[in-house]
Amino acid sequence: MNALRPALKILTASTEIKQQLRDNLPQRLLVKAVFMPILISLLISSCAYSPHQEEYKDPWPNGVMYEIFVQSFADSDVDGIGDIPGMTSKLDYLSNLGVEGVWLMPINPSPSYHKYDVTDYYGIHPDYGTLEDFQKFIKEAHKRHIRVIMDLVVNHTSSQHPWFRKAVASDTSSYRDYYVWADPDSIRNQIAKKKNTLDSDNMTQWHQAPGKKDYYYGFFYRGMPDLNYDNPEVRKEIIKIGQYWLNMGVDGFRLDAAKHIFPDERAQDTHLWWQEFGDSMRKVNPEVYLVGEVWGDATLIAPYLKGLSSMFNFDFYHHMDDLMKSEKDNGIIEDLIETQKKYEQVNPDYIDAIFLNNHDQNRLLSNVGGNVSKARVAASLLLTLPGMPYLYYGDEIGMLGKKPDPEIREPFLWDYDSKAKEQTKWIEGKNSNDNTVVPLAKQIHDPSSLFSNYKSLIHLRNDNQTLQKGNLEPLPLDSALVAYSRGYNGDTLIVINNVSSRSIRVGTPADCRCEPLFLTNDSIGLSDDILTLPALSSVVIRK
Ligand code: CA
Repeated sequence: MNALRPALKILTASTEIKQQLRDNLPQRLLVKAVFMPILISLLISSCAYSPHQEEYKDPWPNGVMYEIFVQSFADSDVDGIGDIPGMTSKLDYLSNLGVEGVWLMPINPSPSYHKYDVTDYYGIHPDYGTLEDFQKFIKEAHKRHIRVIMDLVVNHTSSQHPWFRKAVASDTSSYRDYYVWADPDSIRNQIAKKKNTLDSDNMTQWHQAPGKKDYYYGFFYRGMPDLNYDNPEVRKEIIKIGQYWLNMGVDGFRLDAAKHIFPDERAQDTHLWWQEFGDSMRKVNPEVYLVGEVWGDATLIAPYLKGLSSMFNFDFYHHMDDLMKSEKDNGIIEDLIETQKKYEQVNPDYIDAIFLNNHDQNRLLSNVGGNVSKARVAASLLLTLPGMPYLYYGDEIGMLGKKPDPEIREPFLWDYDSKAKEQTKWIEGKNSNDNTVVPLAKQIHDPSSLFSNYKSLIHLRNDNQTLQKGNLEPLPLDSALVAYSRGYNGDTLIVINNVSSRSIRVGTPADCRCEPLFLTNDSIGLSDDILTLPALSSVVIRK
């Protein structure tokens, strides 16, 4: 029997040990062979960080991004609200997990819990801390080679922003033209022309200014008046804001609602604006990373890459969602390759931003009906494909949640009974709590936990340039297998994911040494050049 070979780099160095394992591997060792890589990776990663290493090895990004809702992450002053010093205290945790960057949901002053309506673009929300706290966070993150990107919410301001207050207070204010105004008659005419009806539902994006006759445009809701990007003063303000944070050491921005800068029929003007913004940011930091949020398909998204480094891949998100539900290969790899081609034509240096969920979507584990094996397979796919994979805080411990929004943004579970002093408590965890999710404190010591699975995959990616930079080719094997190869500098890795609930046997490729690097479970078998993948399992093999 050609038993399953272990994935340890230190073991592959010794042919003798390898041969011994191949010939004599009893079942209990087989289990060890599966878990040893995880244990070794835990040991290696706990020694990796040196506070004195300030230089980055490579231009970024090569690794994994971790999205944080600060309010729900870690609390430092026991007021129940997550904050920046709390997050700073968790940087060793994030470094150990292996992430290359963190995306912070908005941290500026704002009247809402989610803070996607800003009242001061130069400040930090007092619940979250001070500018000094944030500077310290950036410094400590950089020491650990973790980059920091901020949510920049500049399609609209809060209706309580001083600009908007002044614009409403006086028709002659210089801030009046920072926003988009219409008198009611002109909007009615517009709607009548377009719809031949005066249905008031069509007025929802226009809102009457308090105590005034005029209406202002607010795409999302009345509390978020849209900025007027036809006004050069607005464009100057936004560039000044971006440059201010870059000068403070921030490494980039996640650009909220990037599609809505101008109306849909003026998409080209929106693309031009992001080019102007990108060029202005690169003057301050040539390596700045800018990722845009545009809900749409690859054709709609591609032109944004003229100005931005990266765009969220919503097609990938929908394909993954469909794939995990249908339990069949739906051509996701072929589509990803098509998307790459489209993007490369616009910007050869683009970085795909792939994700399985974020603060706007149901949590992954809830979306797959609480099936942890499915979540593991989804994570295997995410973390072995090209681009920059994004995790949403809590993915790694299997947090749950379906919309409404607050229920997908619940407190991270550090320990049982809220024992950890950094546990946030601003909202009760209706979906993710001690009864439904095993907290980090327990998972971190369990090599078979979802957390250990995520960590192994992230470190596998960090240790293999082929997974970071390699090309992608589909391998048609079976309708329930999503299989592909990644190739880089003569190295070839093969990834096979069984997305179905049946066990599948396939022949290994010709000339395959088939050294397993990662397995989701210990019953994956390789014998007589046949690979047996039990229901919902993944394997990464070096060819
Ligand atoms: Ca706090």
